[in-house]
Amino acid sequence: MAKKKPATKAEREHMSKVASLGCWICQRPANVHHIRPIGLGIGRRSSHYDTIPLCYDHHQGQFSIHNCKQQFEDMYGKEVFILQEVKKRVADMEQANDLFNFYNKHKGEI
Ligand SMILES: [Zn+2]
Ligand SMILES: [Zn+2]
Repeated sequence: MAKKKPATKAEREHMSKVASLGCWICQRPANVHHIRPIGLGIGRRSSHYDTIPLCYDHHQGQFSIHNCKQQFEDMYGKEVFILQEVKKRVADMEQANDLFNFYNKHKGEI
């Protein structure tokens, strides 16, 4: 089991929801950035749920979270705090989707 575990369906769905929020900084189309877990120890790897949406520039560009992390966090906040906000937004989105599906499913009955 040395190979990196592929994302499960649920993880992939979560990541596509994260990406659909758009870049956290500039709202442009985004990919997901994996947060490094705090207190990284042996056996701990970053989770596909610990992801935030960033466009190419803010992800891998000159002043991005990968190339200029200190500066990035000084300007936009620590990535773990961004992660908390992203998780809230995704939870809100899921709740709205659930409601929407519920009403659709029971349309004729209400
Ligand atoms: Zn951006
Ligand atoms: Zn990244």
